[in-house]
Amino acid sequence: MLKVIDAPRARPLSARIATVDTAIVDLPFRRLQRFARLDARSQNSLLVRIRTRDGLEGIGEAIVPCGPWWSGDSVEAMKLTIDTYLAPSLIGEDPHDVAAIFVRLGRSVRNNAFAKAGLEIALLDLIGKLHDLPVHVLLGGRSRSACPVAWPLASGSTEKDIEEIDEMLGSGRAAAFKVKMGATGMAADLTRIGRLAETLKGRAGLRVDPNESWTEADALRALPALAEMGVEMVEQPVERALLDGMARITARSNVTIMIDEGAQSEADMIEVVKRNAAHMVSIKPMKAGGLWPAKRMADIAAAAGIPVYMGTFLESSIGTAAGMQLAATFDRLPLGGEIIGPLLLAEDIVTEPLIYADGALQLPEGPGLGVTLDEDKLRAFTRH
Ligand code: MG
Repeated sequence: MLKVIDAPRARPLSARIATVDTAIVDLPFRRLQRFARLDARSQNSLLVRIRTRDGLEGIGEAIVPCGPWWSGDSVEAMKLTIDTYLAPSLIGEDPHDVAAIFVRLGRSVRNNAFAKAGLEIALLDLIGKLHDLPVHVLLGGRSRSACPVAWPLASGSTEKDIEEIDEMLGSGRAAAFKVKMGATGMAADLTRIGRLAETLKGRAGLRVDPNESWTEADALRALPALAEMGVEMVEQPVERALLDGMARITARSNVTIMIDEGAQSEADMIEVVKRNAAHMVSIKPMKAGGLWPAKRMADIAAAAGIPVYMGTFLESSIGTAAGMQLAATFDRLPLGGEIIGPLLLAEDIVTEPLIYADGALQLPEGPGLGVTLDEDKLRAFTRH
């Protein structure tokens, strides 16, 4: 006799989404952060709060690396897009329908991956809290409980960078280091990298990131010198659109070539695989449009034998916890990642700071993202 399975019962109306709120939060850095294209003293974050009718809340964060230079997105534009176009269509929805919700949002608002990521993270935090489950379980389950992290040497002074190396290794808060290249010209860059590599020899790994500032010829000239210094990875040497150039560089390089700006979506990832355009890929929930799309990118890479790296846009503890929940699901993570935003920020907006130990970020315990907002701090740093 056929067993009749009950149709799923409709969830109580009280679990439906009642409000979606956003706030721009300005958080100071501990020290100057130098990128290839700008210097920054503070990070601006868009906090997203989704509340059900019975008052349960999910929190998320949308962030860009200190301005619109990376993707064109900015916290101000994300706030407007969420408040005006994305949030209204979430009201009254069942948060469990997260997949259907994002298919619909994709049809009504094109692009805007960063803003959508903030919303998706808040929804997954909410679902986790509804069921007392950590977000990594919603993403397929835990494979690891820590992510080794690289610290950005970006103070603008080699002497200060060397002091930071000693401080970060001594305190066990970093396992490797990354240096931005391209701000001062190749000769000066190579001299600086040489000094840092000498300091790090036998102690920790060194990686570099020109953020698209090289030509293919620059890359082919610099790579043997960087290999000689012991640099273990070069991130996005040439412009994001130049996948064939990336493929030629990758084929000729003894140093691991990682793609970041050139792989922002699942479709991009398929192209990278088809064209052999990198040895490794930086996975970031923001550029992919959320934890689930980022996970799918990582799955495509893994299926092609391309290991992943857990990238960052210098998120606060909220976005960093989200990145850690995703990193926890990765089987292979040979160079770890760089989810170090909270260590770079002078102020935190969660009650219990994330734990960095043994050179790695530790997976926080608890439902959802595993972090709790500090309402006083949030009020103090919210932009009005
Ligand atoms: Mg990068």
